[in-house]
Amino acid sequence: MGLVQCDRHGRQDNTWVCDHVYPAMKADSPLKIELWREFLWNIWACEECIRTRRLPVLETMDENALNDDLFGPTCVACFNEWRNSTQNAASASP
Ligand SMILES: [Zn+2]
Ligand SMILES: [Zn+2]
Repeated sequence: MGLVQCDRHGRQDNTWVCDHVYPAMKADSPLKIELWREFLWNIWACEECIRTRRLPVLETMDENALNDDLFGPTCVACFNEWRNSTQNAASASP
């Protein structure tokens, strides 16, 4: 629990991201995201999700609440690489 098997990084801690982050990571393109919650893991959501989607209420959140369509686990090393390489571009865009 809490680990993912990454093709590039091997066994890694995971972090949770909204489903918009996967394609952005894959394309290495910037996306504005915020640390939405620190729960069992850090949970990141893009601005659109935070603004427009109904995110689970924290009080009722458990592991099962994360296993819906909104969020999924990803390798924290991949995530950090993507974030570091795209962060400046993301914050510079209007
Ligand atoms: Zn999103
Ligand atoms: Zn990785």
